[in-house]
Amino acid sequence: MTSTASVPPQIEKPAFGKFFLPGPTDVHPDVLEAMIHPMIGHRSSAMEKLLQGMAPRLSALARTARPVFVGTTSATGFMEMAVRNGVRRRALSLVNGAFSERFAGIVGACGKECIRLDVPLGAAVEPDMLRDSLKRTPVDAVTCVHSETSTGVLQDVAGYAEVVQEFDDVLLLVDAVTSMAGSPVETDAWKLDFVFTGSQKALALPPGLALGVASERLIQRAKTLEERGAYFDVIGFLTATTKFQPTNTPAISLLYALDVQLGRIERAGGIEARWKRHDAMRRRVEAWASEHGVPFLPREGRHSWTVSCLRLPEGKHSKDVVGALKQQGWTIGAGYGALKDSTIRIGHMGDHTVEALDELLPLIGRALE
Ligand SMILES: *Cc1c(COP(=O)(O)O)cnc(C)c1O
Repeated sequence: MTSTASVPPQIEKPAFGKFFLPGPTDVHPDVLEAMIHPMIGHRSSAMEKLLQGMAPRLSALARTARPVFVGTTSATGFMEMAVRNGVRRRALSLVNGAFSERFAGIVGACGKECIRLDVPLGAAVEPDMLRDSLKRTPVDAVTCVHSETSTGVLQDVAGYAEVVQEFDDVLLLVDAVTSMAGSPVETDAWKLDFVFTGSQKALALPPGLALGVASERLIQRAKTLEERGAYFDVIGFLTATTKFQPTNTPAISLLYALDVQLGRIERAGGIEARWKRHDAMRRRVEAWASEHGVPFLPREGRHSWTVSCLRLPEGKHSKDVVGALKQQGWTIGAGYGALKDSTIRIGHMGDHTVEALDELLPLIGRALE
């Protein structure tokens, strides 16, 4: 993209394909370019057409026959939507890292009771643990994070969904921020009650939009809750979305970008091809890591397809590794929270490729020597 727009001097303009932060991730120039179109009215027929055109492709992306809500908010806004509309009085929060911790915090912040099921960083909550916990403690909803970006752990959400259905009237609320559009999230087949993502992760858009789907069960429950708030009210979203209307003035430029990105996903073979590419990137990092004796933080079988969290050898500091790569024009993530110094995170999500990883991994190897 050749742009004459002025950019603040402190922001470099690196080529696409070297920015492996686990969110925001790299945005393809064609998607960036989509955003320079003039505005349209948010109550215009042009807006209605734009939203109507995206609707079936969004449903394909989220594997659902239900309407997909698009909100102008970072993903955390839809975390709040899940809690305000999906928790009656008391939720069980599965906590295995920073983002699931945030989900638990929002339960409390919305005035609901939060019971926690904690596992160590790098571990997953297994479905049997969820069952035991639900037997001991009656709750009306469960919060969880599918791909815990802070530790690179992919949890068994399909397994949770089966467990939750053994109990009466317990809703499953799922943060799929770094799984949806990067690895299988079967919204309808798994019977998820609320599932959401944000634009800047595996969708590879700039930040600022959240996507979410609510089950009929959740809609029925929401109708009985009086303090759903206004901006994140699912009934408002449902009413607007089924009419191909935005709830409020949306981030119109980002909607242009989303439209273009949905087209790119389709032309590249659809959502399953996208999963496959992410699976290949995960396997590439796994093969490299085992060859070089670099351990993953999570155990085998629980590796996220979009973010690999690697443990650094004794004496190595994430700051030095990230800095060495930065000098060569590449960006990866340091660890998160308590793991900040001792791990690195490669965000191989969105429009990244195995070919780019083939260039990046040897550079990481050299930085680890
Ligand atoms: C990035 C992320 C979030 C938060 O997203 P924001 O868009 O910053 O609000 C939530 N959950 C997970 C798993 C994430 O990776």
